[in-house]
Amino acid sequence: MTKFVYNFHEGDKDMKDLLGGKGANLAEMTKMGLPVPPGFTITTDACREYLNKGLVPPELETEVTQALRDVEDTLGRQLGDAEDPLLVSVRSGAKFSMPGMMETVLNIGLNDSSVNGLAKVSGDERFAWDSYRRLIQMFGKTVLDVDGDLFADALEDLKKERGVTADVDLTADDLKGLVETFKKIVQDATGDPFPQDPRKQMDMGIEAVFRSWNTERAHIYRRRERIPHDLGTAVNICTMVFGNMGETSGTGVCFTRDPSSGDSGVYGDYLMNAQGEDVVAGIRNTLPLSALKDTNRPVYDELRAIMRKLETHYKDLCDIEFTIERGKLWMLQTRVGKRTAGAAFRVASQLIDEKLITPDEALERVTGAQLTQLMFPQFDDSASRTLLTRAMAASPGAAVGQIAFDNAAAIRMAHEGTPCILVRRETNPEDLPGMVAAEGVLTARGGKTSHAAVVARGMGKTCVCGAEELDVDLKNRTLRVGDRVFGEGHVISIDGTTGEVFDGKVEVVDSPVTTYLSHGLEAGLKAAGDDEDMADLVRSVDRLLTHADEVRRLEVRTNADTPEDTERALGYGAQGIGLCRTEHMFLGERRALIERVILAEDDLAERAEAMEALVPLQKGDFLQMLELMDGKPMTVRLIDPPLHEFLPDLTELEVKVAVAEALHKDGPELAKDKRMLTAVRKMHEANPMLGLRGVRLGLYLPGLFALQIRALVEAAAELKAKGKDPRPEVMVPLVGSIRELQLVRDEALEIIKETEEKYGTELNIPIGCMVELPRAALTAEDLALEADFFSFGTNDLTQTTWGFSRDDVEGAFFGLYTEEGVFGVSPFETIDTHGVGRLVKLGVKKGRSAKPDMKMGICGEHGGDPDSVHFFHKVGLNYVSCSPFRVPVARLEAGRAAV
Ligand code: ADP
Ligand code: MG
Ligand code: MG
Repeated sequence: MTKFVYNFHEGDKDMKDLLGGKGANLAEMTKMGLPVPPGFTITTDACREYLNKGLVPPELETEVTQALRDVEDTLGRQLGDAEDPLLVSVRSGAKFSMPGMMETVLNIGLNDSSVNGLAKVSGDERFAWDSYRRLIQMFGKTVLDVDGDLFADALEDLKKERGVTADVDLTADDLKGLVETFKKIVQDATGDPFPQDPRKQMDMGIEAVFRSWNTERAHIYRRRERIPHDLGTAVNICTMVFGNMGETSGTGVCFTRDPSSGDSGVYGDYLMNAQGEDVVAGIRNTLPLSALKDTNRPVYDELRAIMRKLETHYKDLCDIEFTIERGKLWMLQTRVGKRTAGAAFRVASQLIDEKLITPDEALERVTGAQLTQLMFPQFDDSASRTLLTRAMAASPGAAVGQIAFDNAAAIRMAHEGTPCILVRRETNPEDLPGMVAAEGVLTARGGKTSHAAVVARGMGKTCVCGAEELDVDLKNRTLRVGDRVFGEGHVISIDGTTGEVFDGKVEVVDSPVTTYLSHGLEAGLKAAGDDEDMADLVRSVDRLLTHADEVRRLEVRTNADTPEDTERALGYGAQGIGLCRTEHMFLGERRALIERVILAEDDLAERAEAMEALVPLQKGDFLQMLELMDGKPMTVRLIDPPLHEFLPDLTELEVKVAVAEALHKDGPELAKDKRMLTAVRKMHEANPMLGLRGVRLGLYLPGLFALQIRALVEAAAELKAKGKDPRPEVMVPLVGSIRELQLVRDEALEIIKETEEKYGTELNIPIGCMVELPRAALTAEDLALEADFFSFGTNDLTQTTWGFSRDDVEGAFFGLYTEEGVFGVSPFETIDTHGVGRLVKLGVKKGRSAKPDMKMGICGEHGGDPDSVHFFHKVGLNYVSCSPFRVPVARLEAGRAAV
């Protein structure tokens, strides 16, 4: 029989699949001997069974009883007992942290009689009734689905009536009255009284946590974070400890290092006389952890010692939730903390210095996605700007956009392509869609550990929070700062690195990390100027990237067609060009020559002449590129797209000819247009993607490939004569059969030989092919006989394997397909390992069976996608080739794949 319930002292941190992150870490802390309130965890197995069957598994009830009795016996108190009640929290906790996405209910076990028991034992009537009203409020909202505003409004009304502003100023009698009001709200909204049976409260709470796995916002969050939808959540039942027992009590959240900047040294927020959710919800403005040092030194010291212990144990930055009940410290949660991209690099580097982790381990702590974020531009320090206010720098970045006050506005603006900033008093999980849609988030309340801050950091979204000078008026939809008032749609800029908020648009510049990546460490440090954190970040990125370069097996090349792209990619560390497209060499003024080639039809001499005229032009292009790539490989793909792409548009030409004819504008112009029209009609294809393109076009129009090859080979020969080291490679696109490749290869070898003789030099030019059709992958052992190298073209391979065209489907049904789970993420973004990836694997295996040392790479968009890079490493490719901007990411990920 499956075991559904684990006491905290039965599990450990490696049981996240079963116990969820929170449960596994509560167990680990219990094992470490830290002060964790007793409790137990209901497994994700139980949740999955509930989600599948829609019923709580019957065995669960009895297992829960046993575990509960265990806790009761340890403490000598019973759940909801009228004299001395044991109270518990029912807390969600999935394998991957989903901050605030699911439900937690505190103070379970209170009812009309146990509230009096609690008052007596604690000697604090106010506290007991405050706990009870919190239970009804939380239980009502999350378990019974009562509109949370009803409770919040009732509380606000009461405070107004009493003329107080803070919850803590309400008296015990006020709260007693509030409990009655809350109970009535529940009765009115649900038709039933608030449940008095403690066990029933607990069971309903457990079921509500199970259910919360499938709320809309949880779905949105998982989709965004690419968390599978079928994991389910665990449920933790944890003895209540009380931070709301007066001035010697409190609750807080802290980090062992600053999760925002990565600075070493503890960081946290603290609230006196409060319960946990007050801190996270950003309802009251918090005190810095250092305030605790002044008010309760022993507890502060104990907390510091535990933080250090946890960091040593987890060898990483941890975040911690704690509560102090009348001077006694309790640990309620820990986990390896979320952090910004910059903090990830800095902390990893610090931990190497502190000899807590090895450089290999450090590579596992950072990701290509984080590096990408660090490459985003920042506000230009020298640009003019009007500072509105300065608040908490919660999640870095530079965001500019129109003010949006709620989800609907943010989504609408994003839809229209207008960047926006979500401006809220504070955020809660319901604001997630707006946060996703916005460029950045600005809140008036809450600290670095508030919901807005935590979620924004997780998403890599710019966030400034706790801007107390802001007055967000939702009713009139205005934002007031001092005497300035802005409406929705007004543009502001927020700097998540400094916490500054500016009026209007501020110009942005390259980040020093980008400067470092393109011009080296010294330039990067110089760009950082006297910003010490930034300089440290640049050094940390350099250290980890250098290590990645040392350990990676994959070579990183780039896709570059122009000298500008080539230079950028070389700056970013590209080791060659894996794909140089030649299409653009037929555009612009050269279009006329292509038109001549086509109109020549059977006039072979005319066609040859037009082609001959193209040779020196293409040679010029190649000379430039090869010179830049001196000593590094440059794979040139022969012309690939259908020829009609270089011809006038069919409909436009038809109209033009018709108009000219109607106006009787006879003459050479019209005659030429008419000939062109015939040619265009002849070349028109219903499915150009599957039509006359790639090697087919090369064979169909004799001389076309030859002119390209000649231009390339001659360019190489000329550079060689000048003492340079050109390393071109010829790549034939869209090959499906060995015969196609043979034909092109024979022609190419002849040109190379001729050129070698003509220049009296020896050129060593590999000739290879793309593997981008299923047939090529399936017959790779044949192709290998005629190819010196393979380059997997995973864009076309994805199109042809799935049978859909990228240009047509992404907007059309891909949304639906991701929604319905046909794929988790577009197969054009991350390689579909199960299908397309199998063909790659097969191609590699078959190719190498014929030629064991054959060089193989990939040149699709996937070459710069982190997950795909790991896959290509695994199947044994020699290199990935990606767009210049993604070269650093590919270097890092290739290193991470190797450790
Ligand atoms: P989340 O996953 O949203 O952080 P938690 O389960 O951690 O939710 O609970 C929310 C808040 O309630 C936390 O701040 C925590 O400190 C507080 N809390 C949870 N369980 C207890 C408990 N047994 N005693 C006191 N406070 C608790
Ligand atoms: Mg929660
Ligand atoms: Mg928590």
